Amino acid sequence: MESSFIPYGKQLIDEQDITAVITALQSDFLTQGPAVERFEKSIMEAVDASHAVAVNSATSALHIACLALGVGPNDRVWTSPNSFVASSNCALYCGAIVDFVDIDPATFNMSVEILSDKLERAEALGQLPKVIIPVHLCGQSCQMERIGALAKRYGFSVIEDASHAIGGRYQDNPIGRCDHSNITVFSFHPVKIVTTAEGGCATTQNPELAEAMMRLRSHGITRDPAKMSHEPDGPWYYQQIDLGLNYRMTDMQAALGCSQMKRLHDFVARRHELAARYDNLLADLPIDLPYRNPDTYSGFHLYVIQLRLNEIKKTHRQVFEDLQGNNIGVNLHYIPIHLQPYYRNLGFEPGYCPNVEEYYSRSISIPLFHAMSHDQQDRVVEVLGEIVG
Ligand SMILES: *Cc1c(COP(=O)(O)O)cnc(C)c1O
Repeated sequence: MESSFIPYGKQLIDEQDITAVITALQSDFLTQGPAVERFEKSIMEAVDASHAVAVNSATSALHIACLALGVGPNDRVWTSPNSFVASSNCALYCGAIVDFVDIDPATFNMSVEILSDKLERAEALGQLPKVIIPVHLCGQSCQMERIGALAKRYGFSVIEDASHAIGGRYQDNPIGRCDHSNITVFSFHPVKIVTTAEGGCATTQNPELAEAMMRLRSHGITRDPAKMSHEPDGPWYYQQIDLGLNYRMTDMQAALGCSQMKRLHDFVARRHELAARYDNLLADLPIDLPYRNPDTYSGFHLYVIQLRLNEIKKTHRQVFEDLQGNNIGVNLHYIPIHLQPYYRNLGFEPGYCPNVEEYYSRSISIPLFHAMSHDQQDRVVEVLGEIVG
């Protein structure tokens, strides 16, 4: 039996990907150029959005999405505590006040019931959020129709953090189409579904938001005379009209992304096949398996199991360490954001979001990546069975 290390996630780079990057290296453009435009087009087609803005990470995309929606000092931004810290840091970069909406224990996503109650209380206090950032954990969409209805009623904007979810669908439409949101953000970090090494993208159906984000990713500079305060001084002229950043993606990364996007459908289908196989093989163990909302087709970035600790003679940590000790590259998505020291210093305390804290006490992400073999998967199942059985 092989016993080499099995990671929890891993990119799949093929010969075509390598050729695409070499071709970009030999072209006239290294930084943002025609490959970035091609990559944006491939995303627009895949997710059925009219605009896509590629940047150097999803973190950057979240930041310029907040800025484009006008988030500024003392505005309120709410997100899920069950996410990577970038989902809330983006609001802090803008000087906003962050708050967290606890999760639904079944989906691990922001609970719409808790959100709804919290909005009612916030309205009474005159403290409604300007933006809400639902996170599609593991690639499974949040209940966007209901969140979109609340957005209309209370007047906030919505950024979907779909870092886990490219290739996923909600109510038969691709995630990224922004049917119930203003902007959707994707990540192309190597552990995610499609990779550009580092990279991210924001999609929207709103031309003004797209234009603002394109400006913000490149210093807030425009070369469009119509946007300038006066006639151009000459053909060299540009104007800085916003305080932007340098968040550009390189053409080498975009070339990799274009090549990867051709296999998006295969990647997600393979993840579903492996997930269904896990569902069968793990059915008899004292663990809870991921729930599938019938309204969604997940991108299946992660396969999260939850230990039934009252049926297992080990602690969560022991199970985690035993898996690691057997070369199974497990992970935990996520440490609740509000429990991070930086957020504790902002005043958040344990007990603030009890559902996510309970989730954190018994969850483990087990290996799932498109290049994973059935043999590797069988080994994960066998080792897990021995540990918790
Ligand atoms: C990975 C991730 C991010 C950040 O993505 P980067 O591309 O690494 O900046 C943000 N949110 C979630 C939910 C993520 O998983």
